[in-house]
Amino acid sequence: MPKPIVAVVGRPNVGKSTLFNKLIGRRHSIVEDRPGVTRDRIYAECEWRGREFTLIDTGGIEPKTDNIILEQMKMQAQIAIDTADVVVLVTDIHSGVTATDKDVASMLLRSKKPLILCVNKVDNVGAPPPEIYEFYNLGAGDPYPVSSVHGIGTGELLDAVFEHFPPEVDETQEDDTIKVAVIGKPNVGKSSLVNRIIGEDRVIVSNIPGTTRDAIDAAFERDGQKYVFIDTAGIRRKSKVEDSIERYSVLRSFMAVERADVALVMIDATEGVTEQDTKIAGFAHEQGKAIVVAVNKWDAIAKETMTMEHFRRDIERDLGFMTYAPVVFISALTGQRIDTIFEKIRHAYAQNTMRISTGKLNEILTEATAKVQPPTDKGKRLKVLYITQCAVKPPTFVIFCNRAELFHFSYQRYIENQIRSVFGLEGTPIRIIIRERG
Ligand code: GDP
Ligand code: GDP
Repeated sequence: MPKPIVAVVGRPNVGKSTLFNKLIGRRHSIVEDRPGVTRDRIYAECEWRGREFTLIDTGGIEPKTDNIILEQMKMQAQIAIDTADVVVLVTDIHSGVTATDKDVASMLLRSKKPLILCVNKVDNVGAPPPEIYEFYNLGAGDPYPVSSVHGIGTGELLDAVFEHFPPEVDETQEDDTIKVAVIGKPNVGKSSLVNRIIGEDRVIVSNIPGTTRDAIDAAFERDGQKYVFIDTAGIRRKSKVEDSIERYSVLRSFMAVERADVALVMIDATEGVTEQDTKIAGFAHEQGKAIVVAVNKWDAIAKETMTMEHFRRDIERDLGFMTYAPVVFISALTGQRIDTIFEKIRHAYAQNTMRISTGKLNEILTEATAKVQPPTDKGKRLKVLYITQCAVKPPTFVIFCNRAELFHFSYQRYIENQIRSVFGLEGTPIRIIIRERG
């Protein structure tokens, strides 16, 4: 079940960032302190009344026009329409209803996306000031008075948002379909690859059940394995928002990855690994998905200047946080090595769902701690007691020890490498949780 997506839209300075931060709260997740994963807060995981959802901030988009606020707002609104289940339009009680607010509200209303109107900076507790009634003119229903700074009214706002979430679909009856997100920056060749693949296979294109989002999936079977390609760039209609807007393409990639089992990260061989590639690949890593890296446009590389080994080294350096991911060199244009992708996808998926017995894990642990002594600090030595696997997708291991603070990252990495050296786990991140046992 994909989480609902809520987009926050509004003019500069109405308090979007403040609201965003207030709504995120302090819900924390298991996060690795690995270097190399850049974080750009364009989305946040939130929870309300027991339902998880993703909040996205459409702000900060730089349109290429002589930027007037209206243009920027229209672009934000379009992104919200394209990607979100519910849109929150934030306005400001101090400035009242502006012409821009009117234009954007009518654009959002025309799209029929559920729209919640937030009037921010209503800082007083109690009955809202009479100025609030002006906001009914936007035609977006009841305005919700909020003070983002003081956290007043946010509960009512979230209740209203919650009402519009799509019904929860029970996906416990998962079949053996592998869900794949083809991700990468604009022009890397996503559409070309997908069109080549689905051009060869019988494809059923459908909307995702249980969401009101504008995403299209393609289902097909290949060598007896069922696949769904998620929100696939090549078959969904081109958005009115230019795909070249970096923030937007990053956001789309993120949302596709969230619903996928496997992320196929495409890199342009003619450009090498860019910062944006690192960011996009980072999502898949952080979300614990199986990952296959496809270096595309290999046909366009003069082989004497750029060998595969040379390129592999670049990837190892720039995607150093996911050295477990297999790399294939392909050409969507000529079809070169496209078949290999499917082998890698199946393999990575199998590794991502692998379960390792507790007995085997503890054998590895015993051997590992005998080979390299656990670290000490001020006369205290780390004692590593026991390991067991607690989850798949990705494989997640709990290690019990005497003192968690002595279990340095480097020693965790060492244990991870020992597990990998026995079980492979190619193509999947793994997570290690450290627990103290007294
Ligand atoms: P954004 O540009 O829409 O992201 O707006 P910001 O979140 O950066 O806020 C713009 C300004 O409005 C900042 O000075 C905030 O402190 C202020 N602000 C935001 N929310 C409130 C609020 O609820 N009450 C008041 N009085 N000021 C607010
Ligand atoms: P997307 O934006 O990621 O969906 O990229 P497209 O599939 O639209 O491709 C962008 C451009 O790259 C197009 O002009 C394609 O013809 C070209 N292209 C895609 N794959 C290859 C490839 O394998 N080799 C070469 N030489 N060009 C490619």
